[in-house]
Amino acid sequence: MTEPAALARDLAATGISGLVISWADNNGIPRARIAPIGNLPELVERGVGITSLFAVFDTHDVITFAHAGLSTPSGDVRLIPVVDGLTRLAGQPALAWAPGRQVAIDGSAWPYDQRGVLEAQVARAAGAGLEIRAGWEIEFVVGLPDDGGELRGAHRGPAYSPHALLAIDEFVAALLTDFAGNGLPVNQLHAEFGPSQVEVSLAASDPVTAADRQLLARQTIHAAARAHGLRVSFAPLVGVGGAGNGWHLHTSVWRDGANLLAGDPVRGPGPDGAGYLAGLQRDLPAVAALTAPSVPSLARLRPGMFAGAYVCWGVENREATLRYVPGSPLLGADHANVELKVCDASANPYLALAAVIAAGTAGLADGAALDEPIQSDPGTWSEQDRSERGLVRLPGTPAEQEAALLGSDRIRAVLGDDLLGAFVAVRRSDAAWAAERTPEEVVAAHLWRH
Ligand code: GLU
Ligand code: MG
Repeated sequence: MTEPAALARDLAATGISGLVISWADNNGIPRARIAPIGNLPELVERGVGITSLFAVFDTHDVITFAHAGLSTPSGDVRLIPVVDGLTRLAGQPALAWAPGRQVAIDGSAWPYDQRGVLEAQVARAAGAGLEIRAGWEIEFVVGLPDDGGELRGAHRGPAYSPHALLAIDEFVAALLTDFAGNGLPVNQLHAEFGPSQVEVSLAASDPVTAADRQLLARQTIHAAARAHGLRVSFAPLVGVGGAGNGWHLHTSVWRDGANLLAGDPVRGPGPDGAGYLAGLQRDLPAVAALTAPSVPSLARLRPGMFAGAYVCWGVENREATLRYVPGSPLLGADHANVELKVCDASANPYLALAAVIAAGTAGLADGAALDEPIQSDPGTWSEQDRSERGLVRLPGTPAEQEAALLGSDRIRAVLGDDLLGAFVAVRRSDAAWAAERTPEEVVAAHLWRH
């Protein structure tokens, strides 16, 4: 690592004035402090002060004091930049960016630090000889400039057409250039299915890097949009009825350099990979409370939208909540992974991935049994066929979601009592806010938050 003072001088010499130190709150909303770049040596040692209450900010910037551990306005924590993740922002020439760690004022671990929660799960998996690789697909809707909060699409399709993207050609070019400049490896980009929707998928990496990159990707996309007179919505839903923005989370699990999810397109993965997949399925309702936590998240999970609505897995089935992607002779065994469709931008990426790792590796450890894959859309089945097969729908209300989260000792333990308490308090605050509003008002209020 370059010595911080030298790094600060180098950055300043190339026009960087400030460092954006960013983290994501319990609503998946990126928050940040900007500090002068010359302060980098000090920042690395002691960070900047922020209120201890960020864990109890709800989606609407209301602070809920309903969690006992954070029930007064008194308290401060330190936000410390992770210098390994420091990136000069290609689209914002005066700024560099780094993910932030939150620590207590004495430098000890702060139980509400979401990044630390993911680090703990990665370390736990490593202790069991396992390595996880992860990557997100990022869907968003591109809108024309603000005119009173309404979202007016910037491209008119057709879905998956290069012609759709011509309407936002300069923006797309900037995205590719800025992603490369910001060290974000892209798998591919396309016009997605929904109106004026675009998707960028990020290549897989270690989990903490994947979550850091997911945050940096948002910053990159927002900046490129602004530079081209556009704006983007990452919200789980941009309209009450239409296609949502899914942030599908791909993971694979490895031991000694071998991908345990490698397997057969018909029979599925080998025993360890099957255990990982079964573990994910077993805890899916609780995992979903972290990966798709907001009120619009719940409304996104409808059959027929490729978003996942029922607890099941399938081989390359885009209606299965867990889509198993096998390797092939062409793609190689390393390609194999499982895609979690129940994930969106309102999830804190660190917590989402921590929950996935905990559930999957627990299933692998106890040899959880994997049932037969579902290869059709369970939403088209009769109620009777679903119940005979034991197919259950994911929680559909905030109350069901909370019960699922609190009902899983394994997923509760991922957060620990303090963060769990704050997380639940925030969800309740959001749910109470939404209960007094129409679905349209709820969707509208989430459009520009993430
Ligand atoms: N937009 C869909 C969702 O809400 C996903 C479409 C796809 O990528 O298959 O998850
Ligand atoms: Mg997609």
